[in-house]
Parts: sequence; C-alpha cells; structure tokens
Amino acid sequence: MVIATMVAMSWLASVGLARLSQEGEYRRMQDVARMAEAAVPASPFNADTLAPWHASADSLQRATDLRLDLFDHEGNPARPESDEDSSRGADRAIAAIRQGAAEARSDHYDAEQGRRVLTLAVATENNGILRVTSETTALDRELRLSQWSLLLRFLAAAAVAIAAGYVVAKRAAAGVEELAESASQLARGSLQVAIPTPDLAELSTIAAAVTGLRDQLLERARTIGRQGSQQAAVLGSMVEGVLAVDHRHRILSINTAAADLLGLEPGKVLLRPLQEVVRNPDLRRFVLRALDCKETIEDDLVLRDASRERVLLVRGTALRSSSGSEHGAVIVLNDVTHFRHLENIRRDFVANVSHELKTPTASIRGFVETLMDGALENREDALRFLSIIARQAERLEAIIEDLLALSRIERIEESSDLTLETVSLIEVINAAIGSCQLRANERAIAVSVDCDPAVIVAVNPPLLEQALINLIDNAIKYSDPGKTVRIAVTLKEDHDDRSITIAVADEGSGIDEQYLPRIFERFYRVDRGRSRKLGGTGLGLSIVKHIVQAHGGSVDVKSTPGVGSVFALHLPCHQADAPQG
Ligand code: ADP
Repeated sequence: MVIATMVAMSWLASVGLARLSQEGEYRRMQDVARMAEAAVPASPFNADTLAPWHASADSLQRATDLRLDLFDHEGNPARPESDEDSSRGADRAIAAIRQGAAEARSDHYDAEQGRRVLTLAVATENNGILRVTSETTALDRELRLSQWSLLLRFLAAAAVAIAAGYVVAKRAAAGVEELAESASQLARGSLQVAIPTPDLAELSTIAAAVTGLRDQLLERARTIGRQGSQQAAVLGSMVEGVLAVDHRHRILSINTAAADLLGLEPGKVLLRPLQEVVRNPDLRRFVLRALDCKETIEDDLVLRDASRERVLLVRGTALRSSSGSEHGAVIVLNDVTHFRHLENIRRDFVANVSHELKTPTASIRGFVETLMDGALENREDALRFLSIIARQAERLEAIIEDLLALSRIERIEESSDLTLETVSLIEVINAAIGSCQLRANERAIAVSVDCDPAVIVAVNPPLLEQALINLIDNAIKYSDPGKTVRIAVTLKEDHDDRSITIAVADEGSGIDEQYLPRIFERFYRVDRGRSRKLGGTGLGLSIVKHIVQAHGGSVDVKSTPGVGSVFALHLPCHQADAPQG
C-alpha cells in the first residue's frame, strides 16, 4: 500500500512539475516577446524597417536561446527564408491570432526531430504577429531528471515507512501472538495461565477482557468445584443409595451407599452402561421403567448374593429438562431388610399370640357348651370340666402375663431406663429358688447354689429374679425326678472389663444342637406338646434374653441331649457397681 501510494504521489508530483516547468517556459517566452515587441517595425514591412528588428531579434535569440519570428497581419513571415521550420503547431498559434486573439499558445511534438516545441504568438501593437518558439529538449531533460529524483525520494520515503511499519507491526504481532497463546491455553482448560499485558492500547484492552474472562472462569470453576464437593459430601453421607443414569442408561453418578449395596466400585462404573454393571435384572427393568414414567415409581427388590439376601425399597424418578426432553433418572435405594424382618417378626408374633390364645379359649368354650348342654346335671363330670376350664384360664392368664412382662421389659430395654439397685446376689438367687421350690419338691429335684454370699451387684432385682425363675423353672420342668439343678456364680476379670456369670445347669433332657439358635425366640418350643403339658408358654427364654439385654449383658446355652443343659447369664459390672467379695 505504501509503495502504491508513493508511486501515485510521485506520478502526480511529476505531472504537476511538468506543468509548472511548461508554465515557467511560457512565462519566459512572454517576457522575451514583451522585450522584442518594442523593436517590431510598423507594417507593411520593408527591408529598411526590418533591419533594426533583425539585429535586435538576433541578439535576443542568442541571449535567450529562443527563436523569434515576425509576421504581418496576414501571417506572412517578415523573413520567409527563415520559416523553413514552421510547423503545424506554430501555424495553429498564428491562425488563432489572426482570428482576433491577443495571445495564443501551442505545443507539439516533432517526431522527425524527436523534440517538443512550445510556441507563443502575440499580436503586436502595429498590427504584426510576433512568434516565440522554444525547443524544450534541455528543459525536458532537466524535468526528467527532477522527476526521477522525485520518484527516488518517494521510494526512499516508502522504504523508511515500510521499515517503521514492519517494526511496529512486529511488536503488535508479538503481543497478539502472546495473547493468542494465552487465550488458547485458557480454552484448553489451564485456568491458571498468566495473561500478558501488551504495550499497545488496543491489545491491552483485549488482554484486560481475557483476564476478566479467565477470572470469571476461575470463579465459576471454584463454584462448580465447591458445589461438586458439597454434593459428593451430601451423597456420600447418605444412608440411602443414590444412582443417576442418563437416557442412554449410562451411570452418571453413584454414591458409596449405592455402590456398597450393589457390590460395585464407584470409580470404575461411571459412564458405563447399566446393563454391563448391574447384574440384578429386576433393578435394570426398574431403571427402564423409571426412565419412561412421568411420576415417581416405587418397588421392593430382592438382592441375593452368595452370603445374604437383602430387600431394597427402590424409588425412581425420571429427570427431564425444562423443554421436556428426557435426561435420565435418579434411583434411590433403601435397604429395608431389617424393617421387613421386623415386620415379619411382628406378623409372626401376632399369628403366634392368636394361635396360643386360640387353643385355651376354644377349650374353655367347648367345655362351657358341654356343661350348658346338660353336663351340669352330672356333678362329677361338671367338676372335672370346670377344673379343665380353670386350668385353661390359668394358661391364658400365664400367656397374657408373660406377654405383658415381655413388652414391659422391651420398653425398658429400648428406653435404657432400667433402675438398678446394689443388692446381694445370693439373696436374689435364693428368692428365685424360693419361687420354684414347690415345683422342685413336687418333682423331687434338688437345687444347689454355689455363690459367694459377699457378692454385691447393681441390678434390677425383680427382673433378674424373674429371669432366674424362668431358667430354674425350665431346668426343673425338663429334668427327670431325682436330678439336681446347680446354680453357680463366677466372676471374670479381663483388664478393665469385669463381668459376672450366673450359670443354671441341669441334668435334664438337653436340647438338640439344631434347635439351639431358635430357643430364645418368642413362642419357640422344641417339643410343643410337652411344653404345653408342663404349663410352658414358649415365652420364658425370650423374657430371659430381654432382661439380660436390658442389663447390657448376654445369655448363652450349652446343651447335650440326654446329659443336660447349661444356661449362662453374663452381666457386665462397672467400676461403681463392681462385685465385692
Ligand atoms: P417354655 O415355656 O416352653 O419352657 P421357654 O422359652 O422357656 O418356653 O423355652 C423354649 C424351649 O426351649 C422349650 O420349649 C424347651 O423345648 C426348650 N428348653 C428350655 N429350657 C430347657 C432345659 N432346661 N432343658 C431342655 N429344654 C429346654
């Protein structure tokens, strides 16, 4: 652009220069014409009047290097022999004067001679025409030289301008390159990149804008990071499993609880298709349903693995964008195995209670109807039936009492609201034996105690007595006459832990190993008929278990069929209530 501008300017300047030089030459010619005019004789010319003119014209011609010719008013030369070089241009100027002009100019190129000729014709006062002719060969040479030198100067100026432009552009380009590099690093995600500060004002505005952009991105990244970690913390601390999938069934997010439930590693399953990762077909079907459904859906699923079976309550909600296009689904998994187990226990318990109560009530009703149907007439039968009714009523009472005792103990256990008293253990044991003494005597069973009378414990005496009565009563019930029931108390000290064990051992029927894990369940009886006949409710051991648990202890049993059983109560002793003795 610079070169083109300079060439154009030098051309315009050259043209102007040529015009100026031509104008200057014409002005010189006018001056010479004016000087020569004074010597022009009056026409018509004759040799006498022309002689002084010729002398003065010749001297002027020599001095100015211009040619001077004189013509009469008709255009005839005063010196015909000297007009051999009259040309069309010269004729044109004279013709213009003859037509009335005071001055006429003309220039033409003489191709034969290879020169340019300027002509000026002037009408003289005494009716003649004075012609001044200039050959511009020397003038043109000078002009060309000037034009060339002008062009060279312009080119030199262009070279300087280009060099300066190059330096400035280079500096600007360096700034732009640095800025572009930083911007592309930013675009690639390196948010810590330093943004250069260029000297150029325009670039520094862009740099400031890019810096602002980077700061905003950083702030946004920080916010996203903060939100992400908050979300991860919330999801991670949830007991419920949370699983998010996209509309192509790929896992978008999974929290630790969900991964644990499904046996997956959270880091390895992200963005993998659900079908590849989750083995349970029911859960896969549930996710597909959740993706299709508009409302939240809920279902119970059973997860089985080698070691256990778990019941999951799953809730699925489809995620949709504001435009309504599908996005995926969120599945919340709740392990409700424990609750379902409790529900089953409750159901079984109600069924068991009803069943237990049904037998005595049916029996009572049967005998009452028999009495009403006429058995009352026979006093002996009536008395027998009434004693059966009384026995069944006692049984009902025993079951109800045991149920009430059980629920009372459970409540205490749940609220950890057990009132403890520091008592002598032997006294509690003796009181329990006293309650069972009658039955022991009936069955000729001896009860022995091995307990240091000095042992003092912090327990709830009525509850511990109840537990011991149940154990001693069972030992008497399930032993043949003549056998012995032994109660032994041992203290155990293990570092800071001190515990007391009360063992009730019998020489009775014993319990087969396969039944041992279940005998502490409510209404569980190894031999239902025998237990009933002996007045058992099936709740005795369950009551024992809950009493011991309310004390923070445990119960266990060792039994050999045909040899006997040992039920042991382990009760913890704290520093304050440490047994003494
Ligand atoms: P029950 O009222 O039937 O005795 P328990 O809960 O006290 O109910 O006992 C549950 C079952 O455990 C009994 O039915 C019996 O089969 C078995 N059992 C309990 N104690 C003994 C024992 N000392 N010897 C043999 N079996 C026992």
